[in-house]
Amino acid sequence: MSEVRYPYMPEGCVFRFVGEDHPLMLAAARARAECAGDRLFPVGAVLARDGVVLARAGNGYDRGEGFVHVCPRVVLECPSGTGYELCDFHDAAGHAEPMLIAAARGQGRDPSGADVYLYGHWWCCEPCWSVMREAGVRDVYLVQDAHELFTRERVYAQTLQSRVKRAYIAGAYTNNNALATDKPVHIAFGAVCAGLGCQAVILFRDQEENKKPQEARDVKRVYQWSEDELRACDVLIADVSHPSLGAGGELALARIFEKPIVLVSKNGSLVSNFALGNPNVVYHLVYDDVETACRQLKNVLRQL
Ligand SMILES: [Zn+2]
Ligand SMILES: [Zn+2]
Repeated sequence: MSEVRYPYMPEGCVFRFVGEDHPLMLAAARARAECAGDRLFPVGAVLARDGVVLARAGNGYDRGEGFVHVCPRVVLECPSGTGYELCDFHDAAGHAEPMLIAAARGQGRDPSGADVYLYGHWWCCEPCWSVMREAGVRDVYLVQDAHELFTRERVYAQTLQSRVKRAYIAGAYTNNNALATDKPVHIAFGAVCAGLGCQAVILFRDQEENKKPQEARDVKRVYQWSEDELRACDVLIADVSHPSLGAGGELALARIFEKPIVLVSKNGSLVSNFALGNPNVVYHLVYDDVETACRQLKNVLRQL
């Protein structure tokens, strides 16, 4: 293992290695599956002494499997080592190692002289080493071949898989002077979804394709269509560049139906605080050109 070059390694420190089937490594893998709130690069860790687990933790502040974080660094395609200021979720305090030490102390267990088993990563960053050394941790164990198993490419190949199968695309379709330019943008968003194996539903497209009557007496049908589709979708993509009563209602329904919301707006648009503050908003994509918007939307959806 001496040939592995680590991005950081304090002088005099080494990693120790065990197989994936080692009981404590299995426990770390379970911690990864159950505790890691970071779906993008999940890491789990256990602290053990004499074969007994003293504490367990996952990165992503232990927020667990269902927590959604859309990382701006991934959306904006920040080169490795840059853009950390954009994300307050992936910072060192939320890494598995400090979470583990904090968990042990929280349970009144002294980490000094205990070992750390880490599953899901192949090296430890400087702040994490500092926390572990300061706590008196004895050895840090990784899984054999961790440097090959948990490269960014390999992990992302597994985790950057869009799970959304149905997207509801909303926009301002009634009182909007820019409708002629907005519609093709929404169709382009629909194509992004389709490229990820996700079906997109868009009200105006559905009406045009199905030649649905749009007379006043059908307003209840239009409303019901929207409510049913919102209930059935996995994500709401709402273009909020222009104010819209309908889109506002759709955002509220998505909140009630517990759907993640991706807000999209043209750079320079004034967006209602009521929309921006919706707790179900997982990302607000501000764009200058459609091509960039589509690429970034794809990067968002791949994280959902
Ligand atoms: Zn992040
Ligand atoms: Zn770290």
